[in-house]
Amino acid sequence: MPTFDLRTVLLMASVMPGLMALVMFSIGRTFPRSIRGVAQWAQGSLVFSAATFLMALRDTLPDWLSVICGNICIVGGIGLWLIGSQRYFGRVPFVRFVSALTVIDAVCLSWMTWIDFAPYGRSLCTNVILALLFALLAYELLRFGQRDNGAKVVGSMFAVETLITLTRIVTSLKPGSAHEGLYAQDLVQLIYLSSGAFMSLSITVGFMLTAVNRLRIHLEQLSLIDPLTGLLNRRALLEAHKIAREAPRRTGPYLSLLLIDLDHFKRINDTYGHSMGDDILVDFARRAALALPQHAHFARWGGEEFAVLLPCKIVDEPLGLARALQARIAWTDGSALPSYTCSIGIACLNAREATIEQLLKHADHALYRAKGNGRNRVEVEAEMEVALESLAVAS
Ligand code: GH3
Ligand code: MG
Ligand code: MG
Repeated sequence: MPTFDLRTVLLMASVMPGLMALVMFSIGRTFPRSIRGVAQWAQGSLVFSAATFLMALRDTLPDWLSVICGNICIVGGIGLWLIGSQRYFGRVPFVRFVSALTVIDAVCLSWMTWIDFAPYGRSLCTNVILALLFALLAYELLRFGQRDNGAKVVGSMFAVETLITLTRIVTSLKPGSAHEGLYAQDLVQLIYLSSGAFMSLSITVGFMLTAVNRLRIHLEQLSLIDPLTGLLNRRALLEAHKIAREAPRRTGPYLSLLLIDLDHFKRINDTYGHSMGDDILVDFARRAALALPQHAHFARWGGEEFAVLLPCKIVDEPLGLARALQARIAWTDGSALPSYTCSIGIACLNAREATIEQLLKHADHALYRAKGNGRNRVEVEAEMEVALESLAVAS
């Protein structure tokens, strides 16, 4: 069998994840608070890096530093990865459990160094703890990261690492095996150390890609949300319209658009102040959303104007909805806000003809009429009015 310089393998394993950890630290600091766990992942990689460095200098450094501190750092570093993963998935992190494992490892290693010297007992103790941590990491990442490819890859690596560590434990229990220590030139030890070196780097990279992917999703979502009301923004509604037109007719053959404009909003701002105006916009968004079905796309179109895109089966569906929405706004339910009203213009077109331009044109005409006819009203576009009349005659 060719001889490998395992000390070099360990030194490589210490430097590269350490550098990656520093990169992850600096990137993680710019992440929004909602993406948690990245700092612990970076700390874990840094501690792991320090541990492999200490272990690589075995026989050069004193035993207590290389073996005891090295092993404790490995357990602590991987424990930090576990805590980071749990925080990342919004779960309660096992901080006490990880601390307890680290203390147990420290006590066992100290005992087997100074009181009852047992070098193989030391590696067995650390490996059992590591196998447990690897298995927990594999479980967390594969169970809670099902929709996250990065997490799935890292989780699978931990599953492999669990198997390798368990094999290492079993082979070291066989009489006469692994008696040459850390740098033994046997195959299992070779796989164990070099897989550890390869894994520590790829796991650190994997964690970083996972976090960056979540950041991308977060930014994508932000770009579609109106920050004041939390509703969809104009861009998101245009996207929803594109999808609704392309989608199979599950929700019905028609597409309707409700344009909603708060009445005399300038006067409200002038009377109660701009901040009260903002509160009313938020209140409107909250209350109107309660009147809308789940398949409606509700957006802030701009200023005090809102839009609802509604795929529907029958033409009078959006009219009923608009009236229900107005009734909800009219009902003050003891709110501390001043009362306000809105005008609604509705367009309802066959999905094939319902381009956004046509829907907007018709809904805007109808809204203009609602304003002209005294506000706090619902008006429908002319073609829809004819369809509604024939519906009424038929019934
Ligand atoms: P109408 O009934 O004809 O719609 O009258 P209006 O006063 O509501 O319409 P107008 O277009 O004259 O005024 C709209 C006002 O909405 C003016 C603008 O200051 C206010 N506005 C737009 N965006 C915001 C916002 O984000 N917050 C607040 N507080 N006011 C806003
Ligand atoms: Mg207005
Ligand atoms: Mg307006």
